[in-house]
Amino acid sequence: MQIIRKVVIPLYLNYNGNRRSWHVKRILESWTWSAEQAKEAQRERLAETLKHALEQIPFYQDQVDLTALDIRPDNAEEALLHFPILTPGMVKTYFDELQIQPRPKGAFLNRSGGTTGVPTCFYLDQASEDWVRGIKRTHQEAMEYRLGEKKWVIWGSMNERQRKQAAAKTRLIRGIVNIKRIQGFSLSNEELDEILAGMQKEKPKLLLAYVDILYRLAERAEETGLDMPKDMKMKVTAGTLYPTMRKRIERVFGPSLFNCYGSREFGDMALSCKEKQGLHIQGLAFYVEAIDENNQRVEMNETGELLITTMVNQTMPLIRYRIGDRGSLSNSQCSCENPWSRIEQIEGRSQDLFYAKNGRKISPNALVHFCWVYGMEYQTRVQIIQRDYGRIEVHLLDMGKPHEIHTNFEKETKREMENIFQEPLRIDIMWKKELAYAPSGKFRMIQRRMDE
Ligand SMILES: [Zn+2]
Repeated sequence: MQIIRKVVIPLYLNYNGNRRSWHVKRILESWTWSAEQAKEAQRERLAETLKHALEQIPFYQDQVDLTALDIRPDNAEEALLHFPILTPGMVKTYFDELQIQPRPKGAFLNRSGGTTGVPTCFYLDQASEDWVRGIKRTHQEAMEYRLGEKKWVIWGSMNERQRKQAAAKTRLIRGIVNIKRIQGFSLSNEELDEILAGMQKEKPKLLLAYVDILYRLAERAEETGLDMPKDMKMKVTAGTLYPTMRKRIERVFGPSLFNCYGSREFGDMALSCKEKQGLHIQGLAFYVEAIDENNQRVEMNETGELLITTMVNQTMPLIRYRIGDRGSLSNSQCSCENPWSRIEQIEGRSQDLFYAKNGRKISPNALVHFCWVYGMEYQTRVQIIQRDYGRIEVHLLDMGKPHEIHTNFEKETKREMENIFQEPLRIDIMWKKELAYAPSGKFRMIQRRMDE
């Protein structure tokens, strides 16, 4: 084992490190630039991407009223507006036209998480994969995590590729580099206790987890009065880290909580910094826009639907891809000195936005706060589902305790909800043996399910 640690690990890390070091170096260097330098570099990358699309990709040649000659770094951001907004449905319809022909050797098919139930397929290539891994590496650097240190990964459900990765050969390497994978789909209290006890004993340096799983662990640790180590670095993905959730997680596990915005389509796209004022975008790889209902860009700091343009995938460049998340952008200087603009706040899936009867959007923060506070007070878990305009269901997890709290809860819930919605509501409160998980294995406290 000594030989493996002393010889094999350095060789393995070095081999992979070399192939990726160019990206890592470039990204880390970009973190020392001025905001203007970063902007300039991004405009150049964007211009290259749009030119490539207009030269090589049939879909964009058909749909865009520009030619590659029209695109320059100084007008790239405006030129981008000539490109159509790409929905997952369009990726399916124009699957072949969206690719470079012939497809380069080594390109491989990837699937998105399919939180809507239907996965979107698209091609990635070796170059984009190297960027994805390079970005991940720089995020580890930002968290001051050193390769080889003990790392735990608690995911929801594993997809096909992750299962393959966990196959025998990789499992050996993972064993050597100290990574432990735990299936986190629908954990029982006993399983949560087991994970918490394991954490106390093994003290992982880094924990990667879905937001809601880490939140459940924090909740359980408090319920059972556990004192957890406070120096673990935590990177959460796949969900919205609401302020109330952050507070609780930090109270239990300490302050090193990093919020990562990523997706199966694109990998990590942004990571929060020590200042915790949003998530710095990986601007050499991604261009992010936020738009309103009329597909117009919103002002900085205003919430909109996020569009992602990937600047690292030449095989199937997705431009202005409607990823289904809402958030606001900011380009004010962060005190951590990372010059890249930020996604200020991810406000959840657009499909889970609640509406009042007049079409007004309801702040998900207020609803999640309600779930959290009432869950605490009544010692249960709360989930809110919008069934129709003016009609919501509040689901409470039946944890085997008496239900007398019902009457009070009903009154208070009605008052709180009508306060948030500012209109009369029909509210059905239901005790459930299980709360509903999304197909991806993520738990979402608020869900809009008006079409069922
Ligand atoms: Zn910062």
